[in-house]
Amino acid sequence: MSFVDQIIQYFTSIRWDDVNTIGAMLIIAGVITFTTLERFFPYTPGLPIFRKGYWLDLVWYTFIQSYFLKIVIFDWIIAPAEIRLGIAENGYISHWPVWLLVLFFFITHDFYIYWFHRWQHSNKWLWRTHEAHHSVEQVDFLAGSRSHAVEILINQTIEFLPIFFLLDVQTAALVYPIKGTIDALWGQFIHSNLNIKLGNVGYIINGPEHHQWHHADHIEVYHANFATKLAIWDWLFGTMYLPDKKPQRFGLWYQFPRDYFMQHIFSVVRFNVNKVENYPPIKWYINLRINLLNFVKTIFERMFQWKKFKQLQPGNIYPKLDITQAQS
Ligand SMILES: [Zn+2]
Ligand SMILES: [Zn+2]
Repeated sequence: MSFVDQIIQYFTSIRWDDVNTIGAMLIIAGVITFTTLERFFPYTPGLPIFRKGYWLDLVWYTFIQSYFLKIVIFDWIIAPAEIRLGIAENGYISHWPVWLLVLFFFITHDFYIYWFHRWQHSNKWLWRTHEAHHSVEQVDFLAGSRSHAVEILINQTIEFLPIFFLLDVQTAALVYPIKGTIDALWGQFIHSNLNIKLGNVGYIINGPEHHQWHHADHIEVYHANFATKLAIWDWLFGTMYLPDKKPQRFGLWYQFPRDYFMQHIFSVVRFNVNKVENYPPIKWYINLRINLLNFVKTIFERMFQWKKFKQLQPGNIYPKLDITQAQS
């Protein structure tokens, strides 16, 4: 079968009414929508699409890390635990309607994440699992994807384990992708660089105006705005910070590595970031993407001899009209 046939077969075999496919399409739609809206209604004007750390967040955190952590959380933790306990088919609350199940897991997990997030900001060891998330200096819809591997491992295990423990396999296979899609879209929304005022709705749900401030490098907000989806928790427990101005700076108040692996090493052992990043082999590795792009560009230039092609531009073929001569 040819490569083209394989692609055609792949797309014709997709079940478009499947909840996983619908979820994936909604997440892609979210990416397109927020990328577009951020151009027209920015919270911080002038932020480029490919802002600082964009490729790190997209390639390493969104694709590579998520792929491997999904295997660890589902295949190595949740599935073996279910088999050992023999509860995969029990479905203690499977008889509840799907909307109620989604609402139940939505609220309980959001309450948990508020307190765990608050703990991460007050405990120096847990902070090491959360500082990467705060290292984004230009906050947009994609910024939420930057989370330390251990942070994801803890939070998603605690989030998805009850879904698979309390529901039978079929119901869990329906509730999990719905919850996962809501998480992804809400994450895009609260991090988005959008100038949205939620008004009274902001007493109930969290939005960009709350969470953009949470990412600010301002001492008054280092221990505030911990909510993810429901702003209720911050209002209720006295940790809401919502002044009538915008932050001046975003990110961490100390130096933090730029590379995915170095960020994880830094969470275990502290080192002089400037010194290490300027060490020639590491500097070459950090600039690997740029080095690779330059390498590809050089090959193309050689192949097509663009330099010779450039000499054939109209201005070089026809002599430019001398204005002084033309006037005389
Ligand atoms: Zn935080
Ligand atoms: Zn965040």
